[in-house]
Amino acid sequence: MRVETKAVHTGVNIDGSYNSVITPIYPSSTFMFDEIGKNRGFDYTRSGNPTRSALADNICALEGGTAAWITCTGMAAITTTLFIFKPGDHIITGDDIYGGTYRLFFDVFTRMGLRFSFVNMRDEAAIRAAITPETKAVWIETPSNPLLNLVDVAAVTKIAREHDLVSIADNTFLSPCLFNPFEHGVDVIVHSTTKYINGHSDVVGGAIVVRNDKHAETISYYVNALGTGASPFDSWLVLRGIKTMPQRMEAHMRGAMAVARFLESCPRVKRVYYPGLESHPQHELAKRQFRGFGGMVSFDLDVDQLTPQEFFSKLKLFVLAESLGGVESLIEQPWTMSHASMPEEARIQAGLSQGTVRISIGIEHPDDLVEDLKNALA
Ligand SMILES: *Cc1c(COP(=O)(O)O)cnc(C)c1O
Repeated sequence: MRVETKAVHTGVNIDGSYNSVITPIYPSSTFMFDEIGKNRGFDYTRSGNPTRSALADNICALEGGTAAWITCTGMAAITTTLFIFKPGDHIITGDDIYGGTYRLFFDVFTRMGLRFSFVNMRDEAAIRAAITPETKAVWIETPSNPLLNLVDVAAVTKIAREHDLVSIADNTFLSPCLFNPFEHGVDVIVHSTTKYINGHSDVVGGAIVVRNDKHAETISYYVNALGTGASPFDSWLVLRGIKTMPQRMEAHMRGAMAVARFLESCPRVKRVYYPGLESHPQHELAKRQFRGFGGMVSFDLDVDQLTPQEFFSKLKLFVLAESLGGVESLIEQPWTMSHASMPEEARIQAGLSQGTVRISIGIEHPDDLVEDLKNALA
């Protein structure tokens, strides 16, 4: 089955009593035993729930894994996954990863005894140089946020295999429609389903997908032990959203390409970041590695001509808000919003400025989006 068909037809846990066509919400905290030691597959919702497992089956099929879990947020998926490791273990990751992940690694898990190196993941020598006898994993996130730098995933997982490291990928930005990390040597995938998978800006959620039994056993244990599983209602909303993800991704990308090309022609825009543009330094890698370039576009405004504040105030369609992956286009200034928690020096080091603007392209008509930007940039 192709992705469009899988998204609709996998993980459909119909109700046997009334033959519902879609998976019902089972908001039951507990499930009756037929007799001691015999139940119908579920006993308590922290450990497992039919609505949640329908969504897990769906995402598992879309990623090509062997098992999956649905968590209450993307951060909960990442937190649970980190329990694969023990104090003293060292993990190599990018210096431009999602801010919440950086905080979790640098503040929370460092205090619990894990160690992290934040390196430029485009530089294979830097990755190799960071490997120590304690290194246990590489944590990959691609494309980066907000400047859309890419990681050559097959090259990084090859290094990981040579050193017996676990490869973990956060596939939130591309979604299983545009990239399947398992095909490039990754062992564990995490998602924030809050973004493209749900796609309607009305749930926070996460997912973990594995492809070997050892990781399955560990993750299954920790989702239950930590209590990081998602609610039946949230799982149901995401299950509803995921069915149209392939069509939404196509619309996001059509809009993103049109907007990126328009911005490139704009005198008040200094630089545009989109992997689908020939001007992107890793455009060839993007074409080779991904099935599409995604729905995120960033650019540098010429602040001497127009400040982000003036620009935002003239927009009619783009909503000034953080997050991404929803049906409506969102715009923000990473310097004061999504990346404000980074120290100023780190922001500059990462290539950000006050003029950097990030857009999550929705599924509106591309011509309307371009027209709105054209008016605001005039
Ligand atoms: C949003 C996001 C997360 C965190 O997910 P939440 O659902 O907000 O907890 C993790 N990784 C990436 C790449 C994200 O964009």
